[in-house]
Amino acid sequence: MVTPDRGDTDHFHDECGVFGVFGHPDAAALTALGLHALQHRGQEAAGIVTYDGEQFNAHRGMGLVGDNFSSKETMAKLRGHSAIGHVRYATTGEVALRNVQPLFFEIEFGGLAICHNGNLTNSYQLRKQLVRRGSLFHTTSDTEVINHLIATSEQSTIIDRLVDGLRQVEGAYSLAALTQESVIGVRDPLGVRPLVVGKLADAWIISSETCALDIIGADFVRDVEPGEIVIADAKGLRSLKPFTKKAERFCIFEYIYFARPDSVVDGRSVYEARKRIGRELARESPTDADVVVPVPDSGVPAAIGYAQESGIPFELGIIRNHYVGRTFIEPTDQIRHLGVRLKHNANRADLEGKRVILVDDSIVRGTTSTKIVDMVRNAGAREVHMRISSPPITNPCFYGIATPDRDQLLAARYDVDAMARLFGVDSLAFISIDGLYRAMGQPRRDEAAPRFCDACFTGDYPIPLVDADDGKVMVQLSLLAPA
Ligand code: SF4
Repeated sequence: MVTPDRGDTDHFHDECGVFGVFGHPDAAALTALGLHALQHRGQEAAGIVTYDGEQFNAHRGMGLVGDNFSSKETMAKLRGHSAIGHVRYATTGEVALRNVQPLFFEIEFGGLAICHNGNLTNSYQLRKQLVRRGSLFHTTSDTEVINHLIATSEQSTIIDRLVDGLRQVEGAYSLAALTQESVIGVRDPLGVRPLVVGKLADAWIISSETCALDIIGADFVRDVEPGEIVIADAKGLRSLKPFTKKAERFCIFEYIYFARPDSVVDGRSVYEARKRIGRELARESPTDADVVVPVPDSGVPAAIGYAQESGIPFELGIIRNHYVGRTFIEPTDQIRHLGVRLKHNANRADLEGKRVILVDDSIVRGTTSTKIVDMVRNAGAREVHMRISSPPITNPCFYGIATPDRDQLLAARYDVDAMARLFGVDSLAFISIDGLYRAMGQPRRDEAAPRFCDACFTGDYPIPLVDADDGKVMVQLSLLAPA
């Protein structure tokens, strides 16, 4: 498994966001704005492809959306009434310009650009078959497998070829595609990753999250359903459901951490869901204390919920510096250690002499938690109790989230008591998996038919891991060095 190890290594990272516009004269500018709002889903690279009625225009680059789409020259080049765009945090395929999406290719019927949020779990097997049949791959991205399946399909329309190709893939995917006539959105049959449709005057919008509709003033229309293909073209919006219907398994971690709190997913406000998780955590694991303190920013909504339920005052006992650039933090242990202090500082006035409940959303490697606890103790806290608004993460994600291998997941190696000793806290508790489901409005986790994907907590993977061998994912051997 390729493990991106840049910046914040103590969180899972969503790897991608997609956005598309059909039927607007400022399609590229709207797409750039949409990608800004989706920046939390990927910070390593960004790309936009437009179609202007005669040709496709593309700009892709490493770095943030603002680094790539702020110049007049670039935006002027991206002519056209339709566009798709992508932000990326690599999970499959190394970090290189050739892997930056949308990927564009020409087939018998014309041009096609595709970008992808998610991860295919049989792309290595498919790639081997395709290479054997003569396909020439230009990237190491799993998305290119879809391109080749479309190109080699014997179906007679682009949509039929897309369906034919997607029937052969396993995995989690929300796609945006651009043809000469249309913008297409697709969600995998289990609906693991989010995708929504919006409307801005006569233009149709496709987006990973609703927060990107808000930024351009578009109305939310609806979620793309699991297994659905939506096609926006000159005739309006069409919907196809060509795949065998399966029980939905949306990623529950989107509610805990990945999605922006101002997004609404599947009818649920992400912010409200996080507060409900915090309330449930307070009911499950109460403790006497003077103050509830979030680990900013992602722990804030759950800490508010915990404080509301427990009646213990909420205080910003840790202040985050928002101006630490990712590029400043190098991925070495020494600098990573320093990075925690660069990002967070204890607010001594609200911690000194207090019994503190620290609320965070998840623990991955645990390196940040130890340093945050040290910082709070050094600021004079009398007791430190840690509460985590996700269950222990014991398994890697293979569905489009950048995660370390299992042996680097702290909860896969230590039980809760051992973790508490390691962090130096007076108590440590995680929300239970049933508590998490209760916060999502379910009575408990239904073992026979869980409503969500929760594999990183339970090991119950809902999509076959065809490429995995003993927990490791085979990756494509590439002979071309990164650009
Ligand atoms: S394994 Fe975890 S992070 Fe990955 S899709 Fe499932 S719930 Fe989400």
